[in-house]
Amino acid sequence: MKSFNIPLVFHPIYSQLELPVRHRFPIDKYRSIYQRLKDDGVAESVFNTPQRFSVDKAKAMLDATYVDELVSGSLGAKEMRRIGFPWSEQLVKRTFTAVGGTLLTAKLAVEHGIAINLTGGYHHAFADFGSGFCMINDLYLAANKMLENDDINRVLIFDCDVHQGDGTAALCEQRDDIITVSLHCEKNFPYRKQNSNLDFGLDKHLENEEYLQSVKQALDLALNSYEIDAVIYDAGVDIHQHDDLGLLNVSTEGIYLRDRLVFDTCKDRALPVAAVIGGGYQRDIDALTEVHYQLFKAAFDSQ
Ligand SMILES: [Zn+2]
Repeated sequence: MKSFNIPLVFHPIYSQLELPVRHRFPIDKYRSIYQRLKDDGVAESVFNTPQRFSVDKAKAMLDATYVDELVSGSLGAKEMRRIGFPWSEQLVKRTFTAVGGTLLTAKLAVEHGIAINLTGGYHHAFADFGSGFCMINDLYLAANKMLENDDINRVLIFDCDVHQGDGTAALCEQRDDIITVSLHCEKNFPYRKQNSNLDFGLDKHLENEEYLQSVKQALDLALNSYEIDAVIYDAGVDIHQHDDLGLLNVSTEGIYLRDRLVFDTCKDRALPVAAVIGGGYQRDIDALTEVHYQLFKAAFDSQ
């Protein structure tokens, strides 16, 4: 992919987090995806380095007490268990840099039509608590950032991670300028679902064909029902048949076709799309990298 010129966002800190041995979170995947892109001929100039998101802005847009406690390490043991990571200063730095990455991706997408963050999709983060490896909801904050543009009056958050975007749904519930759509496995975490504008609770073991039909239906319905000016796409790959946490049966090719469908549809409608890689859980980092890599191939091929 030597002529790849879609703006990408990456910071080495994405993978710089010490976790307990056998922790299920594949923290090395971000560096691995970056390396894979470089090995495949993607130029260094394509990569943009994010700034850490401001704690004060997070406090203004979310629950200030929660943000303070997260930053200072004073959340209780129960709250940290719900997040799923041990607290550290590095965790906080990484979290705010990852969020900054999605905001930068949103800005680049508006300028260039498409941009991808090599992390992001913290959709289980609510205003006042974190959950499921998510602490600060980057999707919500990036949607708000996009809305600062005069010609963007409504943003679609299109979430194809296998888990419901419950935090995003709750944060956007009272907003008619942010439309949330979640396609997820119904019998999977989070067991208590929130109300997105459109929810598609998929059956376990769903395969490519039916899955892709659902994605197409969901995206068409959202774009035909609401006047959308920009899209944030959570391209979670925990829908993959070999994923440790997903329960669907979608192949690597199915993921490529899904990502193509989203990019092609947005291109047809001249909608800027900011994509994040979302969830994906396999112990074999090379195998997982290959699955996440489909997003970049699809973006490249859709241009
Ligand atoms: Zn997920």
